[in-house]
Amino acid sequence: MRHLTLLIIKCLKYKLTMKKSDESFFFYSDGIKVPVILKTHSNARRIIMRVSCNRDLSGTNLIFVTLPIGVHDDEARKFLEKNESWVVQQLTKLPPAIQFVDGAHVPYFGVPHKIVHKPSARRGVWKEQQMIFVSGNTEFINRRVIDWFKKEARVIFTSRVKSKTSMLKIGFGRISIRDTHSRWGSCSSNGNLSFSWRLLMAPDFVFDYVISHEVAHILEHNHGQKFWQLTTSLSSDMLAAKRWLKEFGDGLMAYY
Ligand SMILES: [Zn+2]
Repeated sequence: MRHLTLLIIKCLKYKLTMKKSDESFFFYSDGIKVPVILKTHSNARRIIMRVSCNRDLSGTNLIFVTLPIGVHDDEARKFLEKNESWVVQQLTKLPPAIQFVDGAHVPYFGVPHKIVHKPSARRGVWKEQQMIFVSGNTEFINRRVIDWFKKEARVIFTSRVKSKTSMLKIGFGRISIRDTHSRWGSCSSNGNLSFSWRLLMAPDFVFDYVISHEVAHILEHNHGQKFWQLTTSLSSDMLAAKRWLKEFGDGLMAYY
Protein backbone atom coordinates (compact mmCIF):
# COMPACT_ATOMS: atom_id res chain seq x y z
CA MET A 1 0.00 0.00 0.00
CA ARG A 2 2.86 2.34 0.86
CA HIS A 3 4.30 1.60 -2.57
CA LEU A 4 1.01 2.56 -4.22
CA THR A 5 0.80 5.80 -2.28
CA LEU A 6 4.36 6.63 -3.31
CA LEU A 7 3.45 5.81 -6.89
CA ILE A 8 0.59 8.31 -6.78
CA ILE A 9 2.78 11.04 -5.31
CA LYS A 10 5.41 10.37 -7.96
CA CYS A 11 2.83 10.49 -10.74
CA LEU A 12 1.65 13.88 -9.55
CA LYS A 13 5.24 15.06 -9.71
CA TYR A 14 5.44 13.66 -13.22
CA LYS A 15 2.39 15.63 -14.29
CA LEU A 16 4.21 18.82 -13.42
CA THR A 17 7.26 17.90 -15.46
CA MET A 18 5.53 16.19 -18.38
CA LYS A 19 6.56 17.37 -21.80
CA LYS A 20 3.83 18.96 -23.87
CA SER A 21 4.84 17.00 -26.97
CA ASP A 22 3.56 13.77 -25.39
CA GLU A 23 -0.19 13.38 -25.69
CA SER A 24 -0.79 11.70 -22.37
CA PHE A 25 -3.20 10.78 -19.63
CA PHE A 26 -3.16 8.58 -16.55
CA PHE A 27 -4.07 4.95 -16.12
CA TYR A 28 -6.10 4.44 -12.93
CA SER A 29 -6.85 1.17 -11.23
CA ASP A 30 -7.67 0.58 -7.58
CA GLY A 31 -5.21 3.10 -6.11
CA ILE A 32 -2.71 2.87 -8.98
CA LYS A 33 -2.06 5.91 -11.15
CA VAL A 34 0.48 5.55 -13.96
CA PRO A 35 1.27 8.00 -16.79
CA VAL A 36 0.37 6.80 -20.27
CA ILE A 37 2.45 8.14 -23.15
CA LEU A 38 0.59 8.17 -26.46
CA LYS A 39 2.30 8.08 -29.83
CA THR A 40 0.93 7.83 -33.34
CA HIS A 41 2.89 5.78 -35.83
CA SER A 42 2.32 5.42 -39.55
CA ASN A 43 3.44 1.75 -39.51
CA ALA A 44 1.10 0.76 -36.68
CA ARG A 45 -1.79 -1.40 -37.92
CA ARG A 46 -3.41 -1.83 -34.49
CA ILE A 47 -3.13 -0.36 -31.00
CA ILE A 48 0.12 -1.49 -29.36
CA MET A 49 0.60 -1.22 -25.62
CA ARG A 50 3.81 -1.61 -23.65
CA VAL A 51 4.06 -1.52 -19.87
CA SER A 52 7.59 -0.29 -19.54
CA CYS A 53 10.59 -0.48 -17.22
CA ASN A 54 11.25 3.05 -18.42
CA ARG A 55 10.75 5.60 -15.71
CA ASP A 56 10.19 9.30 -15.66
CA LEU A 57 12.50 11.59 -13.70
CA SER A 58 10.73 10.81 -10.44
CA GLY A 59 11.10 7.05 -10.89
CA THR A 60 7.53 6.21 -11.92
CA ASN A 61 7.05 3.48 -14.53
CA LEU A 62 5.35 4.43 -17.77
CA ILE A 63 2.85 2.84 -20.13
CA PHE A 64 3.43 3.47 -23.85
CA VAL A 65 0.56 3.20 -26.30
CA THR A 66 1.13 3.43 -30.05
CA LEU A 67 -1.89 4.26 -32.18
CA PRO A 68 -2.32 3.81 -35.93
CA ILE A 69 -2.84 7.09 -37.76
CA GLY A 70 -6.43 8.34 -37.58
CA VAL A 71 -7.29 6.43 -34.37
CA HIS A 72 -8.59 8.77 -31.68
CA ASP A 73 -7.02 9.01 -28.18
CA ASP A 74 -10.30 7.76 -26.67
CA GLU A 75 -9.65 4.38 -28.27
CA ALA A 76 -6.45 4.12 -26.21
CA ARG A 77 -8.41 4.78 -23.01
CA LYS A 78 -10.98 2.13 -23.92
CA PHE A 79 -8.19 -0.31 -24.81
CA LEU A 80 -6.54 0.18 -21.40
CA GLU A 81 -9.88 -0.18 -19.60
CA LYS A 82 -10.54 -3.43 -21.43
CA ASN A 83 -7.09 -4.79 -20.51
CA GLU A 84 -7.00 -3.36 -17.00
CA SER A 85 -6.18 -6.54 -15.10
CA TRP A 86 -3.39 -7.45 -17.55
CA VAL A 87 -1.84 -3.97 -17.18
CA VAL A 88 -1.92 -4.21 -13.37
CA GLN A 89 -0.33 -7.65 -13.54
CA GLN A 90 2.47 -6.34 -15.80
CA LEU A 91 3.09 -3.38 -13.51
CA THR A 92 3.55 -5.63 -10.49
CA LYS A 93 6.07 -7.77 -12.42
CA LEU A 94 8.41 -4.85 -13.17
CA PRO A 95 11.73 -4.69 -11.29
CA PRO A 96 11.82 -2.20 -8.43
CA ALA A 97 13.50 1.17 -8.95
CA ILE A 98 17.15 1.41 -7.92
CA GLN A 99 18.46 4.66 -6.54
CA PHE A 100 22.07 5.72 -6.47
CA VAL A 101 22.69 5.32 -2.74
CA ASP A 102 25.70 4.53 -0.55
CA GLY A 103 26.73 0.89 -1.08
CA ALA A 104 24.69 0.39 -4.28
CA HIS A 105 26.40 -1.20 -7.27
CA VAL A 106 25.81 0.64 -10.55
CA PRO A 107 27.21 -0.20 -13.96
CA TYR A 108 29.65 2.18 -15.65
CA PHE A 109 30.88 1.03 -19.09
CA GLY A 110 28.97 -2.15 -18.23
CA VAL A 111 31.11 -2.86 -15.16
CA PRO A 112 29.57 -2.71 -11.65
CA HIS A 113 30.93 0.15 -9.55
CA LYS A 114 30.21 0.57 -5.87
CA ILE A 115 28.93 3.94 -4.66
CA VAL A 116 30.91 5.03 -1.59
CA HIS A 117 29.70 8.00 0.41
CA LYS A 118 32.44 10.29 1.78
CA PRO A 119 30.38 12.99 3.52
CA SER A 120 33.26 15.30 4.44
CA ALA A 121 35.49 14.91 1.37
CA ARG A 122 34.33 18.11 -0.44
CA ARG A 123 35.41 16.72 -3.78
CA GLY A 124 32.06 16.28 -5.49
CA VAL A 125 31.94 12.93 -7.29
CA TRP A 126 34.98 11.02 -8.47
CA LYS A 127 35.86 7.52 -9.66
CA GLU A 128 38.72 5.32 -8.50
CA GLN A 129 39.02 1.78 -9.84
CA GLN A 130 35.56 0.23 -9.42
CA MET A 131 34.24 2.75 -6.94
CA ILE A 132 32.37 5.99 -7.37
CA PHE A 133 32.94 8.30 -4.42
CA VAL A 134 30.40 10.97 -3.50
CA SER A 135 30.89 13.76 -0.99
CA GLY A 136 28.24 15.93 0.71
CA ASN A 137 24.94 15.14 2.40
CA THR A 138 23.25 11.76 2.05
CA GLU A 139 20.09 13.20 0.50
CA PHE A 140 22.06 14.58 -2.44
CA ILE A 141 23.92 11.36 -3.39
CA ASN A 142 21.37 10.27 -6.01
CA ARG A 143 21.21 13.64 -7.74
CA ARG A 144 24.99 14.11 -7.62
CA VAL A 145 25.74 10.72 -9.14
CA ILE A 146 23.24 11.32 -11.97
CA ASP A 147 24.77 14.76 -12.64
CA TRP A 148 28.21 13.14 -12.68
CA PHE A 149 27.02 10.48 -15.17
CA LYS A 150 25.65 13.25 -17.40
CA LYS A 151 28.94 15.18 -17.28
CA GLU A 152 30.99 12.06 -18.02
CA ALA A 153 28.62 11.08 -20.82
CA ARG A 154 29.04 14.50 -22.43
CA VAL A 155 32.85 14.22 -22.46
CA ILE A 156 33.02 10.58 -23.59
CA PHE A 157 30.22 10.73 -26.18
CA THR A 158 31.51 14.03 -27.63
CA SER A 159 34.97 12.59 -28.19
CA ARG A 160 33.44 9.48 -29.81
CA VAL A 161 31.27 11.65 -32.09
CA LYS A 162 34.36 13.67 -33.05
CA SER A 163 36.34 10.58 -34.02
CA LYS A 164 33.47 9.10 -36.07
CA THR A 165 32.58 12.35 -37.88
CA SER A 166 36.25 12.93 -38.69
CA MET A 167 36.41 9.44 -40.25
CA LEU A 168 33.58 10.58 -42.53
CA LYS A 169 35.07 14.08 -42.92
CA ILE A 170 31.78 15.71 -41.85
CA GLY A 171 30.80 18.19 -39.14
CA PHE A 172 28.10 17.95 -36.49
CA GLY A 173 25.87 20.38 -34.58
CA ARG A 174 25.28 20.58 -30.86
CA ILE A 175 25.47 17.54 -28.58
CA SER A 176 22.95 17.26 -25.78
CA ILE A 177 22.77 14.69 -23.04
CA ARG A 178 19.19 13.83 -22.12
CA ASP A 179 17.04 11.59 -19.97
CA THR A 180 14.61 10.54 -22.66
CA HIS A 181 12.40 7.57 -21.95
CA SER A 182 11.67 6.44 -25.47
CA ARG A 183 14.98 6.62 -27.35
CA TRP A 184 18.71 6.20 -26.76
CA GLY A 185 19.77 8.86 -29.21
CA SER A 186 18.56 11.19 -31.92
CA CYS A 187 19.86 13.28 -34.80
CA SER A 188 18.06 16.39 -36.06
CA SER A 189 18.03 17.54 -39.68
CA ASN A 190 20.73 20.13 -38.89
CA GLY A 191 23.08 17.59 -37.34
CA ASN A 192 22.34 18.19 -33.67
CA LEU A 193 22.80 14.97 -31.73
CA SER A 194 21.32 13.88 -28.44
CA PHE A 195 22.08 10.86 -26.30
CA SER A 196 20.70 9.37 -23.11
CA TRP A 197 23.16 9.59 -20.20
CA ARG A 198 22.05 6.06 -19.23
CA LEU A 199 24.04 4.68 -22.17
CA LEU A 200 27.18 5.27 -20.14
CA MET A 201 26.04 2.43 -17.88
CA ALA A 202 26.13 0.08 -20.89
CA PRO A 203 29.31 -1.54 -22.27
CA ASP A 204 31.44 0.44 -24.75
CA PHE A 205 30.28 -1.48 -27.86
CA VAL A 206 26.66 -0.59 -27.01
CA PHE A 207 26.99 3.20 -26.80
CA ASP A 208 29.49 3.02 -29.66
CA TYR A 209 26.68 1.58 -31.81
CA VAL A 210 24.14 4.24 -30.76
CA ILE A 211 26.67 6.99 -31.51
CA SER A 212 27.49 5.38 -34.89
CA HIS A 213 23.76 5.15 -35.65
CA GLU A 214 23.15 8.85 -34.95
CA VAL A 215 26.33 9.99 -36.74
CA ALA A 216 25.24 7.98 -39.81
CA HIS A 217 21.93 9.90 -39.70
CA ILE A 218 23.86 13.16 -40.31
CA LEU A 219 24.38 11.85 -43.86
CA GLU A 220 21.40 9.53 -44.23
CA HIS A 221 18.13 10.75 -42.74
CA ASN A 222 16.42 7.38 -43.09
CA HIS A 223 16.89 3.72 -42.25
CA GLY A 224 17.70 2.63 -45.81
CA GLN A 225 20.38 0.24 -46.99
CA LYS A 226 23.05 2.96 -47.30
CA PHE A 227 22.33 4.07 -43.75
CA TRP A 228 22.85 0.56 -42.33
CA GLN A 229 26.05 0.09 -44.34
CA LEU A 230 27.39 3.32 -42.92
CA THR A 231 26.36 2.42 -39.35
CA THR A 232 27.97 -1.02 -39.66
CA SER A 233 31.23 0.52 -40.89
CA LEU A 234 31.32 3.00 -37.97
CA SER A 235 30.21 0.66 -35.21
CA SER A 236 32.51 -1.78 -33.37
CA ASP A 237 29.83 -4.52 -33.11
CA MET A 238 26.39 -3.41 -34.24
CA LEU A 239 24.59 -6.75 -34.02
CA ALA A 240 25.83 -7.52 -30.52
CA ALA A 241 24.88 -3.99 -29.44
CA LYS A 242 21.36 -4.33 -30.82
CA ARG A 243 20.96 -7.66 -29.03
CA TRP A 244 22.28 -6.14 -25.80
CA LEU A 245 19.86 -3.20 -25.95
CA LYS A 246 16.94 -5.50 -26.61
CA GLU A 247 17.83 -7.73 -23.69
CA PHE A 248 19.20 -5.31 -21.10
CA GLY A 249 18.21 -1.82 -22.30
CA ASP A 250 15.08 -1.64 -20.17
CA GLY A 251 17.14 -2.65 -17.13
CA LEU A 252 19.05 0.65 -17.32
CA MET A 253 15.77 2.40 -16.70
CA ALA A 254 15.53 0.84 -13.23
CA TYR A 255 18.15 3.38 -12.11
CA TYR A 256 16.83 6.88 -11.64
ZN1 LIG B 1 17.72 5.85 -36.60
